[in-house]
Amino acid sequence: MKQIMRLTTAFLMMVVLFITGCASETKKAAPAAGLSNGGLVVRMLDVGQGDALLIQHGGETALVDSGDVGARDKLIAQLKKAGVQKIDKLIVTHAHADHIGGLEAVFANFSVGEVYDSAIPGSTKLYRDYLKTVKEKKIPFHAAKDGVNISVGAAHIAFFSLPSPIQEEGKPDLNNNSAVFRLQLGEFSMLFTGDIEQAAEEKLIGRYGSKLASKVLKVAHHGSRTSTSTEFLRTVKPETALISLGAGNDYGHPHQAAIRRLEQSKAKVFRTDQNGTIAIEADGKQYQVKGEK
Ligand SMILES: [Zn+2]
Ligand SMILES: [Zn+2]
Repeated sequence: MKQIMRLTTAFLMMVVLFITGCASETKKAAPAAGLSNGGLVVRMLDVGQGDALLIQHGGETALVDSGDVGARDKLIAQLKKAGVQKIDKLIVTHAHADHIGGLEAVFANFSVGEVYDSAIPGSTKLYRDYLKTVKEKKIPFHAAKDGVNISVGAAHIAFFSLPSPIQEEGKPDLNNNSAVFRLQLGEFSMLFTGDIEQAAEEKLIGRYGSKLASKVLKVAHHGSRTSTSTEFLRTVKPETALISLGAGNDYGHPHQAAIRRLEQSKAKVFRTDQNGTIAIEADGKQYQVKGEK
């Protein structure tokens, strides 16, 4: 009899666990109201080690970075799959190859309306070629600085920057001077951070404070230990954190220390190496996140 009781208890516990587990999954999987009517869609595209994010709303498109050179075919295929025909705004966070490597392919496949760039020049041929193409195609080129506000459909983008670039060894550091911006539609918000590290995080907290608070955080620098400080997480207060990186990459990204800090912040973490392309759909009130692997 005792054994039956024990079995029954165990069975009941399993049922409870099953129901609770399912309930939270269902909540996440359920489409938020109005999503089918042209909600804001943000995709962190799976381009391996690098960054490429796509923002679509109201028939307009913004592309944030373009992954590394080797991922360009994968990038173009994903942009086409997402229905992209024209890129209204191209945002280039900084001049490293894992962010600008796919730009030539982007220019070859799509017309680009305007470019917003950190305006800290890179020293590589890849960077010079990108600037050359922008010039040849006469695409308006803007510095992504404080006070610059743009839109993607009805979604709003505000750029954040520092009064003077962070220097390293006498010249501006590319990662720390990445273009940083906050995307907003109604109650939905997402902070884009390029590859900034702790030095930039501290200065941005000093300059903007609670204006950095966002529901979703694009984790800086592929989950490197030198970014995503506890102080930054306390200021941004993200519910959801997205990391773009390649499985088995040479840098050991994401670093455990950064993952630990994200876990402590209670943000739910999604990673392109595990979830594939990560899609967020937002209607201005609710949002849902799903891996498209
Ligand atoms: Zn990078
Ligand atoms: Zn970088």
